[in-house]
Formats: sequence, C-alpha cells, structure tokens
Amino acid sequence: MTAWFISDLHLEPKYENITAGFMAFLEKPQSGDQLYILGDFFNIWVGDDFTNPYIDQIKQALKQKSDQGIEIFFMHGNRDFLVGQQFCNEAGCTLLDDPSVVELFGERYLLMHGDSLCTRDVEYMQVRTMLRNPQWQQQFLSQSIQGRIEFAQNARAESQSKNAEKASADMMEDIMDVTPEEVINALEQHGVTKMIHGHTHRPARHQIDLDGTPAERIVLGDWYENGWQLKIDEDGIELSDFDL
Ligand code: MN
Repeated sequence: MTAWFISDLHLEPKYENITAGFMAFLEKPQSGDQLYILGDFFNIWVGDDFTNPYIDQIKQALKQKSDQGIEIFFMHGNRDFLVGQQFCNEAGCTLLDDPSVVELFGERYLLMHGDSLCTRDVEYMQVRTMLRNPQWQQQFLSQSIQGRIEFAQNARAESQSKNAEKASADMMEDIMDVTPEEVINALEQHGVTKMIHGHTHRPARHQIDLDGTPAERIVLGDWYENGWQLKIDEDGIELSDFDL
C-alpha cells in the first residue's frame, strides 16, 4: 500500500498542462493505495450543482480510480471549500475534515490544508471565518449559479488587484507562510510529531524540535510549474516533483 498526497493543483480549464499532468499522475496509484487530496484541487468551486464538461471529466477520472480500488480522500482548501457530498459521491471520494489525523505504517500524521496555520494574515483569517460559516454558505448556495460565478469572479479580481505588483497569475498569489507557534500548537493539540499540509506553495520537509522530541512538517507544492507529490509507503516518506 502506498499513500499519495497532493494539493494545490488549482484545476481550471485554462491550465491545460496541469489538467493533463493530473490525468497522467492518476496512473500512479494502484489498487489498494490511498490518495489524499489536501485542498485547492479546484481553483474555484461554486457548488456541486454546477457542472460542465471539464468538471465531468475530472469527476469521471477520480471515479474510475475509485472503482479500481484506490481510496480517495478530499480535504477542502480555501478555494474549493464548497465541494460537498454530492461531488464526493459522483467522484468516489470521501470528504476529510481539516484537520484530520491518519495512521500510516504505525505513524500518526496530522493532515491540514494549511491556511488555518497562516494566522499572521489577519485579513484572510477574518474572510475565512465568514466563508466557513454554514449560514453564509447556505445563503451563497441559494443564489443562482450565475450569481455565484459572478461573486467568485469579483472576489478573485479584487484579490488580484491587491496583489497586482506581486502576482502575474492568480496561482502565484502571495501567501503568507505558516505561523511557527501555530504549527507547534497543532502538533501538540493532536499529540502527533508529523504533519502534512499544502496551501503555502513552499514545498519542503521541515525538521522541528518539539520540546526535545523530533517532529516534522511536510509541505506539498503547487502544480504551477511542476507537479508535486508526497509518497508514504513501507520504505518511508518521499516528497518529489515531476514534469507536467
Ligand atoms: Mn490554499
């Protein structure tokens, strides 16, 4: 059994190389493996009731892998937090809470998207609280699909203009890094010494000293230039990138 972890693909029709790279990546997990998608799989998601040929293609690709015996877990990111049970049923995925702890090969891993660790971005944390409010979500989802798409496009245009001097593409938004104290808090709160997250687009394996106990924070990469994967199997942990 191999556990595969990916995040921050930001799938969208205009990123043809990423979509093709994901389809190629899906050839890797074999029956009995697990695939963990740790957020921002889609660049935008306005509700499970909206679909198009692009979304259908992704759903079918996931469903096919699920039918082949690959267990697929889907965690929300800050961009696709509205992915719901209907999508998961259609794509053969299981929704995974952020955070979640999973045990693999005798080791417990804390899984997160990662945005909740970036507490120094006060403005974002306030927006996050609003967007994760069930009442706000219900109100948003009750709007017409066209209304929701316009809202999402406006929100993106606003965030792009704010980051205009830093960003040439919306994937390259300037994301603050995690707050080190939040990492320690999360590890201690869940009683683990290993965590895996994405979101910051800073792929790395960080060794941490947890009051004398060695701990590790593994950060997945985005798929803007290369694909990134984390593989955990009986031989160990491997974080690597590959051409799209
Ligand atoms: Mn993110």
